[in-house]
Amino acid sequence: MECNRCDEEAVMHAAYSGAHLCESHFRESVERRVRRRVRRDDLVPGDASPEDPQTWVIGLSGGKDSVVLTKILHDTFAKDPRIELVGLTIHEGIEGYRDESLAACVDLTDDLGIRHEVVSYEEEFDIRMDDVVEDDPENMAACAYCGVFRRDLLSRYAEMFDADLLLTGHNLDDEAQTALMNFLEGDVAQIAKHFDASLGPLSEREEQEEFVPRAKPLRDVPEKEVALYAHLANLPAHITECPHSSEAYRGEIQQLLYDLEENHPGTRHSILSGYEELAGIVADQYAADDERDDLRECIECGATTTRERCRKCALLESIHAV
Ligand SMILES: [Zn+2]
Ligand SMILES: [Zn+2]
Repeated sequence: MECNRCDEEAVMHAAYSGAHLCESHFRESVERRVRRRVRRDDLVPGDASPEDPQTWVIGLSGGKDSVVLTKILHDTFAKDPRIELVGLTIHEGIEGYRDESLAACVDLTDDLGIRHEVVSYEEEFDIRMDDVVEDDPENMAACAYCGVFRRDLLSRYAEMFDADLLLTGHNLDDEAQTALMNFLEGDVAQIAKHFDASLGPLSEREEQEEFVPRAKPLRDVPEKEVALYAHLANLPAHITECPHSSEAYRGEIQQLLYDLEENHPGTRHSILSGYEELAGIVADQYAADDERDDLRECIECGATTTRERCRKCALLESIHAV
């Protein structure tokens, strides 16, 4: 099959758009979608200047998503003195798995000439995920512990680096799954929060001074295309899945979306675009009703939380009590 835009051989076919694209037109199309998302979410403020550059911290795991995001943002902004990129890698203490993906992060940031920082659960919390999984004091899935600690470190370090934005490599499949899960769980407050925290255009979000705003500029690109891009661009992405990964419910939703997409191409796109519009309306409504939870400081670590002691401190206590 030929590329729709030139006479080269197509390397991919997207059922949702009908496009057949050759390698260079495919790469261009992924890059264009990321740049369009950066524009639509107005991530570069109008008053950004070379004298006072914006610091964008990217959560860089070394997996294909964050590696592709870093590469495209670097290529987009390498010559733009208004934006400075920092890669931030979290080492969870997962033998083998994280060491290999850390090597991918080092290769990539060396290659692109981007500042790279690494923080670990071991140094920060005196824990390693391999041990947490074994002891499992709260009887939860590994990801439930790990997500709390990762979010804490990403936002704490983003703040420490004076970040204007914290970017993560969530792709279209990830976000369509989350949208559907929030919807199926009937958690409307969570939908409003999702919009304000990371989804909507910066200018439309409810101001949250206590957090560095998040952004997900890869969320228009399906997972398979991210993987193909990483492969074609020869990026040092680490592709093994985390050995502790076991989000059973998310797995079910993922399968459901695969099946729907197969029979009705474009389903992920329509779920996400409808969800975003709805989430924006819900977020406005919540802001107008002032129904946001009362935020306060954790009595132990000072993190912003809705409880007396934050979730991270509570989990750490039960892990260290083992
Ligand atoms: Zn072409
Ligand atoms: Zn705390």
